[in-house]
This record gives sequence, C-alpha cells and structure tokens, in this order.
Amino acid sequence: MRGAVIHAPGDVRFENVADAKILQPTDAVIRTAVTCVCGSDLWPYRGAEPIGEPHPMGHEYVGFVEEVGSEVTSVRPGQFVVGSFATSDNTCPNCANGFQSSCLNREFMSTCQAEYVRIPNAQGTLVATDEVPGEEFWPGLLAVSDVMGTGWWAADAAEVRPGSTAVVVGDGAVGLCAVIAARELGAERIIAMSRHEPRQRLAREFGATDIVTERGEEGVARIKELTNGIGADSVLECVGTAQAMRQALHSARPGGSVGFVGVPHDVAIDGQELFFSHVGLRGGPAPVRRYLPDLIDRVLRRRIDPGRVFDLTLPLDQVAEGYRAMDERRAIKTLLTP
Ligand SMILES: [Zn+2]
Ligand SMILES: [Zn+2]
Repeated sequence: MRGAVIHAPGDVRFENVADAKILQPTDAVIRTAVTCVCGSDLWPYRGAEPIGEPHPMGHEYVGFVEEVGSEVTSVRPGQFVVGSFATSDNTCPNCANGFQSSCLNREFMSTCQAEYVRIPNAQGTLVATDEVPGEEFWPGLLAVSDVMGTGWWAADAAEVRPGSTAVVVGDGAVGLCAVIAARELGAERIIAMSRHEPRQRLAREFGATDIVTERGEEGVARIKELTNGIGADSVLECVGTAQAMRQALHSARPGGSVGFVGVPHDVAIDGQELFFSHVGLRGGPAPVRRYLPDLIDRVLRRRIDPGRVFDLTLPLDQVAEGYRAMDERRAIKTLLTP
C-alpha cells in the first residue's frame, strides 16, 4: 500500500509503506474513506520538531472496517467508523473518568495519511455509524476525529456556559471549530481573534459575534474594551505559542478559565502572574473519544458542519502539495481522498 512519509523538513513523499495489518488481537484495519493534514503536522514539516528517521504521517481518519482482531467485537467489517488521534481501551480508570487521551494503553495514531490504517485498541477507540453516511458527511466526521473534538475540549476545559463570553485565540481549523463548540455550549458572545479575512468570515458563519485583529498586548486591550475592562469568562487557546498563551491568560477575567489545546512550543508560565490572575487553567490532548457519539450525532443531524474547515481537497497521492498549501497559508486545512 502507499502512504505519506516525512523525510526532512519540507519533504513529504507519497510512497510504498508496509501494509497495515492486524498485529494484536485488539487491532482493526480500516480502509481510509478520507484523511487530512493537521496543523500540528506542520511542526515537523517546518523543522520545529525533530524528525529523526523518515516516518509515516497523519492522525485523523474515518474509514471502512476491513478486518478486526479476535478480541474486537464492537465493530465489524464493512462498517463506517470514526476514531481519534489517541487510541484508548475505554475501560481503564482514566478512560472511565472521561480522559481517554490519557488511557493507560494509549497509542497515538501516526500512519493515517495512507490507503489503509491499523487501529490499535480498536474496541475502545472506534465508533461506528448506524449506516454508511453519505459522502457529504465524511469531511465533517473526519473533523470530529480531531479538530472538532479538540475545539470542543477547548470550550469544555474553558468552562463555556450559556450566556457567557468566550474568546478564541487562533483561527486555524481547531480555533474555528472552537467557535462552533462555544456556540453549541451557549456562549452569548464569541470573540474570534483573527487577522485573515476568509477565516474571519468562516468564524462569523460558525457563530463568532466579534472579530479582534490585534495581537499580543494590543489584542488583550481590545478584549478588555469589549468586556467592560474585566476580561472574558472563557478563553480558548488554540495555537500553542508563547504569545498565544500570554494573550489567552491576559484576556480572561479573574475567576475565568483558559482551555489550552494548542500543543505548547516554548511556552513558560510565570507562577506569580498565574497566582494573582485568579485564572483557572486546563489543557492537554483532547479526550475526543468522550465526545465522539455526541459530535457524530450533531454532524449527522446537520446541527454543525465542521467539515467546512477543509478549503482544499486533493487526491491522497498529492499529499505533499497539501502540506505546502497549509504551510504557505494558502489553505486552512487539506482534505485527502484515496
Ligand atoms: Zn490533528
Ligand atoms: Zn483506558
């Protein structure tokens, strides 16, 4: 079979890779329906994370079950399934507490930009739809496997409540999905921080009520202006840089909460500053599995349409161009079709 392999920064190739097969009785193999490039794939692509040996890429997927291991009874060949970038048994104490992305048997997915994918912990990880959904739903369901689930976690971790004010830092796919989540959870005012016109438009369509184009301390000053000088109830940090985290912490009101879901790169938090801010802080890899049944249902009922974050569709064998387009910000997110 063929799949994407990263060799060096800026060098992703579509080439022959080892066939996906059952290695453990808890595995499944799926045939990819659609997959995509993630903003976090750009960290190694841009040389911000070491690559080491050439290795496969991709952690977002929906597909058709091809084969299951002997211990997998929850899904069967032919079913359409949605999973998460972090696999989980869904039975250990961390899973029972709703933090499946800290599962004691967790394995992170990393081979999904390929024709077939091996899914470890398939029993706990995969959720099958009742019937095979129409192709128009596939992008939305794919978004649920990471960016929509992560945006939801940002809103959940930042304790968005009906009637509250939420600020979203970051206008990538996760930030845009975080706007959807804040709206679904009842935020009355949703302030999206974005300086890119097409993304501002999508943020508004997803439910943003205000757009702030300033960044850094100027951005914080704008948020304060919009919130009677106090700051926002909830801030959803969806970038992972030091500047974005500072912006998030300074935009929350005393007693407010920051949910941070961008993988931190060179972020350091000052203890004194955090202490006196009175801001609650929670983040980490999203427990997407906890949200899957609900989010799948919202997509299939057409209540939300997170698939709109995909603004470029390419055949899987042009995956390298998909990375380039996102790196150069010509695309928000690239959908790949086998
Ligand atoms: Zn991702
Ligand atoms: Zn577990």
